[in-house]
Order: sequence, then C-alpha cells, then structure tokens
Amino acid sequence: MKQKNTILLFGTGSIVLLITIQVYLVLSIWNQKNESFDLRYKSLSQDYISRLSRFNSNAGFDTAYILINTYAEQVMRKEILSKKSFNETDLSALKKQVLEDVTKILVLEQDLSSFLSRYFASQGYEKDFNFKIEINDLRLIDFDTRVDIYTNPDFMSGRRIGAGSIKDRSKIQKSRILVNSYWTEENYFRMQFDYYIDFQDKKQTLLKEMSASLFLSVFSIVVVALLFMITFRNLIEERRLSNLKTDFINNMTHELKTPLSTITVAGKTLEMEKIRSDPGKIMETARLIGKQSIHLNQLINLILEISMWERTQFQLDKKQVEVDELIKDIVESFISGCSNCAKITQSYDIEGIKTDLDVVYFTTMVNNLLTNAVKYSDKEPEIKVEVTKDKDFVYIKVADNGIGINRNDQKHIFDKFYRVSTGNIHKIKGLGLGLYYVKRIAESHGGDVTVESKPGKGSIFTISLPY
Ligand code: ADP
Repeated sequence: MKQKNTILLFGTGSIVLLITIQVYLVLSIWNQKNESFDLRYKSLSQDYISRLSRFNSNAGFDTAYILINTYAEQVMRKEILSKKSFNETDLSALKKQVLEDVTKILVLEQDLSSFLSRYFASQGYEKDFNFKIEINDLRLIDFDTRVDIYTNPDFMSGRRIGAGSIKDRSKIQKSRILVNSYWTEENYFRMQFDYYIDFQDKKQTLLKEMSASLFLSVFSIVVVALLFMITFRNLIEERRLSNLKTDFINNMTHELKTPLSTITVAGKTLEMEKIRSDPGKIMETARLIGKQSIHLNQLINLILEISMWERTQFQLDKKQVEVDELIKDIVESFISGCSNCAKITQSYDIEGIKTDLDVVYFTTMVNNLLTNAVKYSDKEPEIKVEVTKDKDFVYIKVADNGIGINRNDQKHIFDKFYRVSTGNIHKIKGLGLGLYYVKRIAESHGGDVTVESKPGKGSIFTISLPY
C-alpha cells in the first residue's frame, strides 16, 4: 500500500512537472512568436513609412493636416482670440472638444492605413488590421499666442504609450504595435501623436504557426500519462496476483494439513495396543485413513488440473443430455451427499430440452454453486434451483439466502484464487477456485455465468448455456 502510494505520488508528480515544463516552453515559444510577429509588422511599416517620407514628410496625413490647420485657425479666431477672458470650466470644455475633433479628423482623413494595408498585401502578409491614433501633445498656435490643449502625462514622463490607466496600458502594450510617432507643426497647431496597428487574427495566426509544437507538447504529455497509467495498472495487477497466490498457498497448506494430520493421528492410533486388539476399531480407522487419502488425492488432482488448464484448453467429452433430468440428479445426490444440509426447491421450465454437455464438468459446475450456497450461509440454507430457457439459451439459476457478496467483490469472485476477505477466510475453508471452475466450464460450453447479490440478502448465480 505504501509502495503503491509512493509510486502514485511519484508518477503524478512527474506528470505535473512535465506539464509545467511543457506549459513554460509553449508560453516562451508563444512570447517569441508574438514578439517576432510585432517586429515583422513594425519593421515592414517603418520601412514603408521611411520610403514615403523621402518624397513627402507628411505622407499619409497631408489631407488630415490641412483640415486640422483650418479647424485650428477657426478655433483660434472665433473661440479664443475673440474672447477677452475664459472661466476654467469653459476652457476645459473647449479643450476637450478640440482634442476630440482633431482626433476625429486625423482618424477619418488619414491615408496611411490604406497605404500600409496595400503594402503588407504586396509583401505577402496579412493586410487586415485595425489602427488607432493617440494624440500625446496638442497645442494651438498663432503668431504670438499658444494654447495648450492636451498633454499626456505618460508621454511627458517618457513612457510614450498613450492615455489610460496602468491596466489599460499593459493591455495596449500587449495587443498593439506602435508603428510610428509623428511630430508635426503647421501654422495654427503643433501636435505629437502615435499611430498603432492591431491585428484581429493575430492569435489565430500565432496558433497556426505554433500548431506543430503545441501538438508535440500535448502528444508527449498524453504519451507519458498513458505509459504511467499502464505501468501503474500492471503493477497493481501484479501485486493483486501475488497477494492472491500467497493467500492460495496459505489456504492450500491449511486444506492439505487437515487430512494429513487426521491420517497421522489415525496411524498413531493403529499403533496402540488397545486398538489393535479390536478389529472393529481397526476397520473404522482404516476407513478414516482411506477417506482422508481420497480427499488428499482430490485436492492434489485439483491443483494438477488447474495447472493443466492453464497450459491447454481443456477437453470436453460432450454428449446429448436432457438438462432438467441431469440437474435433478445432481441436486438429489448433493442433498444426500451433505446429509440434508439445505432446503432446496426446484422449478423447471424447459420441457426436456436436450443439449450437448460434458456431464462430469457440468456436474462439477452445478455442485460448486450448491456447495457455495451452503458454505456461505449464516442461517439455515435455503436454495432455489430454477431452470428456464429462451430462444437460444438455457438458464440455470442457483439462488441462496446466504451472506451475499458486495459489489466490489462481485467483479473478482470468478478470478482464479480470489476469496472475499471479510475475515471469514479462515472460518470457511476454500481455495478460491470453485467459481473460477464454474466460469471456465460455462465458457467452454459456449455459455457464461453471472452473479446478482446484496450483502446480507443472498446471492443468485445464473449459468447460461446455448442449446
Ligand atoms: P472458495 O469458496 O474456495 O473461497 P470460490 O471461487 O468458490 O472459492 O468463491 C470465491 C469467493 O466468492 C468465496 O471466497 C466467497 O467469499 C464468495 N462466494 C462464492 N459463492 C458465494 C455465495 N453463494 N454466497 C456468498 N459468497 C459467495
């Protein structure tokens, strides 16, 4: 148990470690790809912008600058210079309005986005992107007047990311690519702004690029987990078998010791003067020795047979038999053999159906079920033998009022050497082979055996045989 827990802990630990390493690797690859994606578009756009600037330094924003200049001139004349004084609220409302209007003109009238989009496409790259323009510094100017409209505090402190809270900034930083920062000065305004692009399909593109490494990571995790599960299951199975074998050897020793010690005691008895002079006693002892030797022989044969079964498919000597008659005989000799140890009721609904059976094996099979029904009973045993049929099968039900079997044990009782270990292992003798025999014999006849049971309520074993 302790070893099992250690292996489980070690295995799970290794898998968790492997998953952590894989996640770390995948994340690093993701970051790398992300950076190189941004870098690719940044250098492409800068390359393009520097080419444009060779001909015209306002390239992409000529119309926007002209319109903003006109707008700035109007604001200067009509809103600012014409007024003698401003109260604070009016002024800040005006500044807000100007910032909004200028941003709107920049966004609507710029041509850079369509130029870039065409350029990306011509280079064979993704052409669909969103852009964002963020003004960091805006002033309206005249010959001798200057009105500061807006200054981004981050910009002033050198962080050049744009307005917004720290949280917003980190989001912006992650998803957007800063293509270029522009300084411009015309007659009526001076402005600094940043131009960003942002690809909607960036995630999908990156995922596509990473699909091979993602697949390999997931695959390696699955393979390792599978290997671990298989090894662990084998180990558990091995331990279970080894425990079963140990139990079997203990039970076998116990079983063999009983007739052997009876024979030893009987032998010693025969040496006694008093017994030797009484022919009746000698006969009785001799019979006892004979009976125990037969029992011993049966036990040894059982073991030999089992080992033979393991090596070869056992040979059936089948012949046509009337099933109901055969079962009636078996039940009758069982009752007389155990000197009326149980109350057995029988019902037959198969109207003398004949089927191919090996009588010896079939008898062993039914006998084993009857023996168990008596053995595993904590009260006066009452057994019901019910034989029915359908189109293809004959069903032989052996129901008892015994101690029953819990759900978990029901899964294993047909396994070789398996015995339910609820403390009764030493009280009720057995080798854990009876039901194994039943299963093997039923299967070799093309049938099966099943169990329904509830602890304390009794069990029903059903053998199905084709006819
Ligand atoms: P054995 O009787 O030698 O232990 P079996 O293979 O016949 O081996 O049975 C396996 C186990 O199934 C038994 O140890 C017992 O706990 C349980 N079992 C079998 N038949 C019954 C039954 N009729 N009622 C309750 N338990 C049973």
